[in-house]
Amino acid sequence: MKTTTAIATLASAKIALHVGTFLAHTWLLAPLTAPWLLGNGHPQSIALTFDDGPDPISTPQVLDILERNAVKATFFVLGEMVDRQPQLIRDILAAGHELGVHGYWHKNHLFRSARSIRYDIARTLAAVEAAGGVRPTWYRPPYGVVTRADLTAAHAEGLRIVLWGTWGRDWRRQASAVSVMADLRSRLRPGSTILLHDSDHTSYPGSFQTTIQALPQLIDLARSQELAFVTLAHHGI
Ligand SMILES: [Zn+2]
Repeated sequence: MKTTTAIATLASAKIALHVGTFLAHTWLLAPLTAPWLLGNGHPQSIALTFDDGPDPISTPQVLDILERNAVKATFFVLGEMVDRQPQLIRDILAAGHELGVHGYWHKNHLFRSARSIRYDIARTLAAVEAAGGVRPTWYRPPYGVVTRADLTAAHAEGLRIVLWGTWGRDWRRQASAVSVMADLRSRLRPGSTILLHDSDHTSYPGSFQTTIQALPQLIDLARSQELAFVTLAHHGI
């Protein structure tokens, strides 16, 4: 038993060492360690961002709501989804939205090698460029976990990393439009960057319905505070 405990302690110490060596920032600690990652921009605007798409079912519904409300947003896409649905990249761009890189696969980078992270980002950039003929300038690693290798790879590719300052936790099974709006309200500030998801690819199945229900309410809330929706390029970060 003692040996097992000792091995377990050693194993967790090794994991802690690995994390301590490679982790640069996480969203959870960013307000203290790296507030520049939270995407706080012009106090007259807010930047709405969507992660994990494009998805053939949910992304067009999100685009439709944005179009009807004349809202521009930034979509952090997954390379594997782009390769499956390149037309959606063209639809997003044609509607005047911006694109960012979220990674090729939705994997936590904490335990991936620097080489595989570099490959992941480069492959996503190539997928977006092949689909839409544009090269994104923003990068948001999965789960808001920023490793040292992410910083290096993003710099090498000319990408700026931005996480978010406000989220709706819309990916959860128990999320509802009410809970999403409560979460957003609690952190929404002039200049916020907001995280929602236009896909349930890595979330509870069907969770995008919650996002779609909450979205018009978020738009109304922001407009009642005279905040303009802008893409990250126009957010002044
Ligand atoms: Zn994600």
